[in-house]
Amino acid sequence: MTTTAASASATAPAVRLRGLTRHHRDVRALDGVDLDFHAGTFTAVMGPSGSGKSTLLQCAAGLDRPTAGRVEVGGTSLEGLGERRLTLLRRDRIGFVFQSFNLLPALTAAQNVALPLRLAGRRPSRTEVREALARVGLAGRERHRPGELSGGQQQRVAIARALITRPAVLFGDEPTGALDSTTSREVLDMLRELVDRDGQTIVMVTHDPVAAARADRVVFLVDGRVAGELRAPTVETVTARMTALETGTATSATASGAPASPRTATSIAALTSIGTSASPGTATPTGTPASPSTTGRRSSC
Ligand code: ADP
Ligand code: MG
Repeated sequence: MTTTAASASATAPAVRLRGLTRHHRDVRALDGVDLDFHAGTFTAVMGPSGSGKSTLLQCAAGLDRPTAGRVEVGGTSLEGLGERRLTLLRRDRIGFVFQSFNLLPALTAAQNVALPLRLAGRRPSRTEVREALARVGLAGRERHRPGELSGGQQQRVAIARALITRPAVLFGDEPTGALDSTTSREVLDMLRELVDRDGQTIVMVTHDPVAAARADRVVFLVDGRVAGELRAPTVETVTARMTALETGTATSATASGAPASPRTATSIAALTSIGTSASPGTATPTGTPASPSTTGRRSSC
């Protein structure tokens, strides 16, 4: 990727969050988050259950409206966008995958992948769909239905569907949370390759240090605030940082990492034992992000 591109949007981060705040009555799900996610980078977001990870992704993806603060995607501010323009921006610029794959069981892999374009009134070419599946390592599986594919393969189809519109950013809320460790590694390898080979921007919530270590950067959230970050993470450094958060001894170990507040100390168990059951409450059956008005809330993580 070029670093000398002249257009302003080429230099703007793929996603910019400023003062992002989301309150639910007296709960501060997000409390003034400032983050940039640069194009072609892979970021993991970690934190205890209830720390605001899903809320962060949903606000950043235009699925939920913040109480205060700004979200920009590809240089476009979501603030003030009407429902229709927000829907178009979500459809064209944002990909979202969930822990549950949300594929339509009666449709083939190719038909599932083609859906977002069809919903946009386009008739995708067979080549386009075949290439999208090939990008996630599923060449030749076009005619398989979800029931004929493994969990990892189904998640790849969901990722291909999220990427068919060539979005500025792919968000994943625990995309490997329902997969066994071998399959999870395969999906992570693929996500890594999408970043390295295609310059895809990915922001992934995970509770798994092994998954987080595949990212370029890990951002830690606690009580709706950024509690530090790690660059070039390893399983060891991620685990150590979580332990530090657990004991309240985390200090500003990186230039950009804010010290964790003592009240943010949380059980390490909460960081590592998040359940894998999740409802597809934030997705329509097509996996296209739902509108804020239809966005359900998950009771888990
Ligand atoms: P995480 O994904 O890190 O587990 P969430 O973003 O789902 O955390 O939730 C952050 C906090 O906001 C939690 O305390 C959660 O209970 C609360 N919360 C999220 N959505 C709602 C809602 N719709 N109504 C009330 N509280 C909510
Ligand atoms: Mg969550």
